[in-house]
Amino acid sequence: MTDATLTPSIAASTALKWLRLWHGATMPEATDLDVLRQMLPETPYGKGVREIKAPRPLDISSFEGSLVRNPEDPTEWGIFYKEHATPERSRFTIAHELGHFILHRALQSRFECDNGGVTSGQFDGRNIEREANEFASNLLMPMDLLRRLLGDQRKVTLHLLSDIARTFEVSFEALCLRFIEATDQRAILIHWDQGFLKYQRASRNALKTRARVRQSDSAQEPFAGTLAADASVLQCFDGVECSAAIWCAEEGAHMKLREFKHSYTDRDRVITLLLLEGAEPRDWDESWKDEHVPDASDQFGISDQRFYC
Ligand SMILES: [Zn+2]
Repeated sequence: MTDATLTPSIAASTALKWLRLWHGATMPEATDLDVLRQMLPETPYGKGVREIKAPRPLDISSFEGSLVRNPEDPTEWGIFYKEHATPERSRFTIAHELGHFILHRALQSRFECDNGGVTSGQFDGRNIEREANEFASNLLMPMDLLRRLLGDQRKVTLHLLSDIARTFEVSFEALCLRFIEATDQRAILIHWDQGFLKYQRASRNALKTRARVRQSDSAQEPFAGTLAADASVLQCFDGVECSAAIWCAEEGAHMKLREFKHSYTDRDRVITLLLLEGAEPRDWDESWKDEHVPDASDQFGISDQRFYC
């Protein structure tokens, strides 16, 4: 039986503990999902299961992955992932399906996951897609290791985040989202899709100080004078300094921020990272609460191209 009180982060940290015991001193920084998959039936998280078969690719449109119990043999489960996806994306998908296996297999015998699954994955008030993503994120990017790799966070650049993404073998976007959860700085991550704001995520200290990107309407475009709006700059991994008020209306005129930019090859998608100067916390703004939770399409990775400014 799946334990309904087991949280994604506890499940991931327990799995990492088992992996550390298994690997000993040779534990790789990129979590070995194959070892975990084979190990799980022998652990308390795999009760009643004999085997999780090796993941296999499937070529179905809008499909990201699935976890399926063998109808002929309930002690056997299988994982499928999108064929032709990047290795980083496949890894996230497989980790996501392992999350369903540990957290949710008592609820269903079949999980079909697409890249919009977060809105369709409700089960008795639980968002099982979000939980599986949270498990994958914690498993592939352990917080303690991430903070150690980040080092002095005042020196963070997209070069460093890109290096850490390669170390963890995750997509650049997935790593940036995890950085927002990890950082003590005031940081905001923005994803532009086809020239319009798709989502913004703020770090804990950005939330506390009510630093948020101005949004005048639902189809927000980059602000004039920013790197994000400058079509001649595709990549800026070292960042440039500008007035924080250009981005965040509530920031004082003297406040600065550092803007970084990463464009994907097709230029339809751009990631902006803003690192703001420190500020004193303000009263909690409840309106932020719903905006801080990553969804499945954000978490599933995208290819990582690099062209520096
Ligand atoms: Zn799923």
